[in-house]
Amino acid sequence: MSIRGRCFVAPCLFALVALMVPVMSGHADATESMTPLLLAVPDAPMPFMSSDGQVHLVYELWMTNFSSGDIAVEKVDVLGNGAVLATLDTASVASRLQPAGLRESAGTLAKSTQAMLFLNIALAPGAVIPSELSHRIAMRASAAPPDRQEFSESGGTVAVDRRSVVTIGPPLRGARYISADSCCDATRHTRAALPINGRVWVAQRYAVDWEQLHENGRIYAGPREKLESYAIFGQPALAVADAVVESVTDGFDEQTPGKYPTNISPAEADGNSVILNLGDHRYALYAHLQPRTITVQPGARVKAGQVLGLVGDTGNSIVPHLHFQVTDGPSSLSSNGLPYEISDFQITGKTPGTAAFDEAESNGTPLMVTPVSPSRTVKGAMPLDQLIISFASH
Ligand SMILES: [Zn+2]
Repeated sequence: MSIRGRCFVAPCLFALVALMVPVMSGHADATESMTPLLLAVPDAPMPFMSSDGQVHLVYELWMTNFSSGDIAVEKVDVLGNGAVLATLDTASVASRLQPAGLRESAGTLAKSTQAMLFLNIALAPGAVIPSELSHRIAMRASAAPPDRQEFSESGGTVAVDRRSVVTIGPPLRGARYISADSCCDATRHTRAALPINGRVWVAQRYAVDWEQLHENGRIYAGPREKLESYAIFGQPALAVADAVVESVTDGFDEQTPGKYPTNISPAEADGNSVILNLGDHRYALYAHLQPRTITVQPGARVKAGQVLGLVGDTGNSIVPHLHFQVTDGPSSLSSNGLPYEISDFQITGKTPGTAAFDEAESNGTPLMVTPVSPSRTVKGAMPLDQLIISFASH
């Protein structure tokens, strides 16, 4: 059979793959095999302590299906220094693998497409943090001959980023705050991958939408569309560290709570906002502040605990809340989201999850919080998703 006649097409080329033809080189035996699923980790994970007492590794494994048929990803082993740290089964992969540009997940990569597998690996307490991660993928590739479609590949090797995680003070003070859409499996922030200026960024990887409950357990009490109905509206947003004000945006009017604004440009998404330069390439964003309440100017030095402005509902916001994140650059969109650890907070409860939270936020019904009693004091950790948190006064 001639190359031109038949084997010059992708499925046949791919058939060679599975043969695992040993290739004899001049000096040593080597095996070269086709790897139709290309693996890469563009942003190395930075280990951090979270409020569950575990160190987490949160990152995205990019997969490119460089073949002419679908590839079903059946299992993913995450290896740390060569030992298995975690295994994702088919269902877990299917809930975490998102084709580029989509917010829905699927376990199969269509031919000639790219997807991101959003990973959250929690290490057992006391476990050694690995210096290197790699991945072993079991898959079924439909472009291969029928008897060779099941095989595995290894790759996506990356050195763990051991730069120090910034420790910060609380961005708010008081009780009954909800860490909504926080790390590490809530999809709204952690999976907010955006292509900007020729690169995909996950600036919101560790962002939190802070909301607050009234004493009666409701996010708002009174008319839904009234800003003052919301417990968090008007709370002071606080500098989380001694810092220099990197930028200030002001002048946007409040939105009407209960409905997302339309035609918001990326430049307007944060609404009235402050970005602090924390030093060492760490920047903290405070978004959706009330108009004309920001008290600081670009270039000013601020002290930890200083009031920056008041929580509002400006920009791309459906209810008053404080969107807070830390990134490695001064842009809230085209920068890489970094973890941070809050020096001191108390966990006083836990919500049933995002769906219940969304319902309470929409309907103004009490959120059925499971109390943590006595409350748990946490020092130096990232608050995970859907906790009820108190921040002591400075
Ligand atoms: Zn947000």
